[in-house]
Amino acid sequence: MSHEQLPTDRPAVVTVGLPYANGDLHVGHLLGYVSGDLYARALRRTGQQTAFVCGSDMHGTPIAVNAAKQGREPEEFALEYHEQYTETFPAFNVEFDNYGHTHDETNTELTQAFVEHWIEGGHVIEKEIEVAYDVETDEPLPDRYVEGTCPYCGERARGDECDEGCQRHLEPGEIDDPVSVTTGNPAEYRERPHKFLRLSDFQEYLRGFLDRLEGTEKARNQPREWIEGELEDLCITRDMDWGIDYPDEREELVLYVWVDAPIEYVASTKQYTERVGPEVYDWEAVWKPGGERRPGTTWDDAWTDESGEIIHVIGADIIQHHCVFWPAMLRGAGYNEPRAVIATGFVGIDGKSLSTSRNRAIWATEYLETGFHPDLFRYYITTGSAVEHDVDFSWDRFAERVNGELVGTLGNFCYRALLFAERTYGGTPEAALGEEARDRIADAIEDVEQAVREYDVRKIAESAVTLAQFGNEYIQRHEPWNLVDDEPETAARVIRDCVQLAKACAVLMQPVMPGKADELWAQLGEDGDVSEVALEEALAAPAATFGEPAELFEQVDDEAVEQLTEQLRSRVADEPKEEGEPDESDETMTDPLADDRISFEQFQEMDMRVGEIVSADPIEGADELVRLAVDIGVETRQVVAGLKQLHDVEALPGTRVVLLANMEKAELFGVESDGMVLAAGEEADLLTTHADAPLGARIR
Ligand SMILES: [Zn+2]
Repeated sequence: MSHEQLPTDRPAVVTVGLPYANGDLHVGHLLGYVSGDLYARALRRTGQQTAFVCGSDMHGTPIAVNAAKQGREPEEFALEYHEQYTETFPAFNVEFDNYGHTHDETNTELTQAFVEHWIEGGHVIEKEIEVAYDVETDEPLPDRYVEGTCPYCGERARGDECDEGCQRHLEPGEIDDPVSVTTGNPAEYRERPHKFLRLSDFQEYLRGFLDRLEGTEKARNQPREWIEGELEDLCITRDMDWGIDYPDEREELVLYVWVDAPIEYVASTKQYTERVGPEVYDWEAVWKPGGERRPGTTWDDAWTDESGEIIHVIGADIIQHHCVFWPAMLRGAGYNEPRAVIATGFVGIDGKSLSTSRNRAIWATEYLETGFHPDLFRYYITTGSAVEHDVDFSWDRFAERVNGELVGTLGNFCYRALLFAERTYGGTPEAALGEEARDRIADAIEDVEQAVREYDVRKIAESAVTLAQFGNEYIQRHEPWNLVDDEPETAARVIRDCVQLAKACAVLMQPVMPGKADELWAQLGEDGDVSEVALEEALAAPAATFGEPAELFEQVDDEAVEQLTEQLRSRVADEPKEEGEPDESDETMTDPLADDRISFEQFQEMDMRVGEIVSADPIEGADELVRLAVDIGVETRQVVAGLKQLHDVEALPGTRVVLLANMEKAELFGVESDGMVLAAGEEADLLTTHADAPLGARIR
């Protein structure tokens, strides 16, 4: 069974993973919020009724731990960040229809109702489990109060997730060698009764769900292996005060933060309906089943697409929560399942992983202080790579993309087209729209509709620049300035086409650059709000008159880039800024293991040889590059490698390395690089051999 093609005539909701109210927002977070906002706007443009909702995640141990350290109440602590987020998002043109938080009444009531449903359905069981206790203080240590070793991969892990290793969710009692995060005392495991959601009840259902699920590839495929074999029960209670009470007054337990957090998606949609009225937007039409469930049918039979469209945008680190736990939670409470999950990649900084503890990050407030328009950031971050891949942020690249694509292509085309039209005709010349321009615009509309169906955020974001590229080529090809006197009719038609193309750019760029789209819309003399027009409006006749246009974008100058790059480099500390401070939002760029296997033949295509560095010289003018001569037995290769910052260049000669000999040649700073030296991780740890394989020996 598969979903009806988007847009459907049912309401949709787009959500983004809740920000955890425990720290400032940085560009790594903003990738998700901007992508979600862009997607919701684009979906609306295709004619789908869409709500865009989110809220702050207020519960859980990191907030409790950090609030206690400051001697404050967790609620007050988390609310402060919540307030901050409600100001930061609009500053980046991220406009939620509703933004709540998990500690509010709507979410509290709804969460307890969910759990009561599971209890009634027989999906909740009680088990005695081992819970970590601080040996000296005698306090229970749930989740992130404890750290230790991952039992699956052996990496250092947090109490509830293997954040640096295999990314698995960890159940209480699973982590090895537990130690208290707050006191550093060793922890011991004691038996305590806890409540569990029996996930194995949903195993069959989840198989069908993953078959139907749309979205990015990783989100659809990675969970398949997690649901092979019997699913582990999910512990839904914790020994804590901070959280939503388990709905049985005899129990002194709160619900696990991952129970009430996703339910905020539902609660926030409900609050939106309460504000605008069900005749405007009906949250139940989205979240509650519309069709009849026949008793005795299989899970797949019982699935119906008579419900609304639920689309989640999340980070790749919380796929298991959204593609395994969450659909089971919804199913167990009688709610609809997600239609699609879009998992975004991580954001790197200057080619390295973003690290909040090292202050290697661009903070939201920092970007806003530069005075650059938020739309520039939105464009850069959503077009830097496909939505599910990692994207690198550097000020150099930012300037390059803004100056080239936004100033040079999009801005330049709209300005010259409108300026010529205004000077010559006082607005849109009287002429029919030409076939070529009409076809190009129609194709662009279709491409965006297709990209919406394929959850291709980058393609949506690129569409206006792509069309403007054609516009520049079109205007150049026809040279209307040479036609005005001799062929006035042709000139009028060409300019009419160009005004239409500029209008189409305004419509197409609205999801990614809503502020700039407004500006262009006003310059075009159009009435109304460009955020409310359908994609087809790109082909509607432009306004007959408009005033003199202004440049849409400003050049980012070299000096600003240098200053910002320097500011970033100088403050990136080699050591964590505050020792012992739990670093909740430290996203490592450790990629999850690749899903796709390669054949032995494919491996053999890589000709890797043992080599030895003979000489190493810094390349003038390049911050990181070194020219290496590498002896690989049969010959000596010249290789350019980014080792200057990370290694003592003078100590490199004599080092044994592994060289990819059939790497295609490249030229960097005018120096040819003939091969690639292999290195691991962001510190460029050079690969070597441990015995005495001769130079030139092949790696196999
Ligand atoms: Zn692990």
